[in-house]
Amino acid sequence: MDQNLIIYNTLTREKEKFEPINPPFVGMYVCGPTVYSDVHLGNSRTFISFDIIYRYLLHLGYKVRYVRNITDAGHLEGDRDEGDDKFAKKAKLEQLEPMEVVQKYTLGFHDVMRIFNTLPPSVEPTATGHILEQQEMIKKISKRNYTYVRNGSVYFDVEKYNKKNDYGILTNRKIEDLLEGTRELSGQDEKKGRLDFALWIKAKPETLMKWDSPWGVGFPGWHIECSAMSAKYLGDRFDIHGGGMDLQATHHTNEIAQSQAANKISPVKYWMHTNMLTVNGTRMSKSAGNGFLPHELFTGDHPLLERGYSPMVVRFFMAKSHYRSTLDFSNKALIDAETGFRKLMKAGETLNKLSTSKSSSVNIKKLVNNCYDAMNDDFNTALLIAHLLEVVRIINLVNDGKEKITKVDLEKLKRLYNNFVFDVLGLKEDDSAGSKENELTGELIDFILNLRLEAKKNKDFATSDKIRDELIQKGIKIKDTKEGFEWEID
Ligand code: AMP
Ligand code: ZN
Repeated sequence: MDQNLIIYNTLTREKEKFEPINPPFVGMYVCGPTVYSDVHLGNSRTFISFDIIYRYLLHLGYKVRYVRNITDAGHLEGDRDEGDDKFAKKAKLEQLEPMEVVQKYTLGFHDVMRIFNTLPPSVEPTATGHILEQQEMIKKISKRNYTYVRNGSVYFDVEKYNKKNDYGILTNRKIEDLLEGTRELSGQDEKKGRLDFALWIKAKPETLMKWDSPWGVGFPGWHIECSAMSAKYLGDRFDIHGGGMDLQATHHTNEIAQSQAANKISPVKYWMHTNMLTVNGTRMSKSAGNGFLPHELFTGDHPLLERGYSPMVVRFFMAKSHYRSTLDFSNKALIDAETGFRKLMKAGETLNKLSTSKSSSVNIKKLVNNCYDAMNDDFNTALLIAHLLEVVRIINLVNDGKEKITKVDLEKLKRLYNNFVFDVLGLKEDDSAGSKENELTGELIDFILNLRLEAKKNKDFATSDKIRDELIQKGIKIKDTKEGFEWEID
């Protein structure tokens, strides 16, 4: 097992050596989607990032239990318990049962995750399937006197909690600053304090999803589900908790408070947060309406898109930036990603055809170490890809006879490719619309270059040169060989 993995821990704001609580086991919880609408590309970024993290931990030999929940109840429109229930609102709009909404978008989410080649989590618990566990946790928190009941709803008393604990620990903010950032309570508010949040919410007559409880008929608050389900499957204290950065200040801050209040222990050793996918600098979100859907990206059917891109190109585009950096969407960035991805796949094919020599002129060990060093440095996929493109360059040099490689080293190089390109980054050859387009492009280039060969045979050098110059100008590298030609898109 590799002992050099470093993880940036949001809780301590430092890069720390990864030391699981109970090695070789690793417990990892990631906040999953709220299934009241299609997942957009921003959500996908977070899930793809954690998929790569999961894959790398598995690659290192850890026995990972990866829990990613499905929020199918209790998520109100406002993060602070205001507004309508997201599921009920959608159900009314689409004239569906709330559970039909949940089913529809859960299936859609799974489809997207499969298309992006993400591994399924070990457990995928739903909020509605864990109402009892949530109620039990609320009872525990109540026993420790951190709650109060108002008109059938149960609230968490943040100021009281903060007297003995540090409520703002995750974002490193004092409660006074946090209070300043929240709006005043109105006379109609049931809450005592501005930062208090609901653990259990009393059902209104029109509420569709509701359950009986010691406090009357109602439904759980959004934050309690993750605390209850992570404790159930991973224990009161576990290794990694992840999610998007947007969840840090409220959802994850409240999760810590709930778990600490109930179990007297801080629930998570390493908190990890992915940065946002943005469009022209603005966070992509369902509510902002700038969230295009993965299938729109694949087909190119969206005003922001010049054309479609294959799922693997999109996955590669995401992996090209580190999970803690923002990633801004643009057609240019996707086109660049496409070129890089095709190079990587083509070199993978070339790798299987390389001839070996008695000695090596390339240092494979260094290449392998570079890849591990990049991933060990807080899963730096951006750096990993830079190293892999260097590997591509070397593969092509060996293929051109400019570098030599032994049989043993070739096997090592193949292992490196398999480990990092396919197992860790989770890339694969794609067979989607995007690559069909590429197939067609490939066939057309072959056709044109065959015309050039014919022109040459007929000593029509003006035509053959014209074709060559034109293709070179379009960024196609041409190499004349004994058999005819080879080409590559630069
Ligand atoms: P939601 O379905 O809104 O509860 O979000 C599911 C996950 O996607 C959460 O971990 C969010 O933090 C994450 N997320 C939402 N918007 C974005 C975005 N624009 N970029 C990256 N992650 C996001
Ligand atoms: Zn959560």
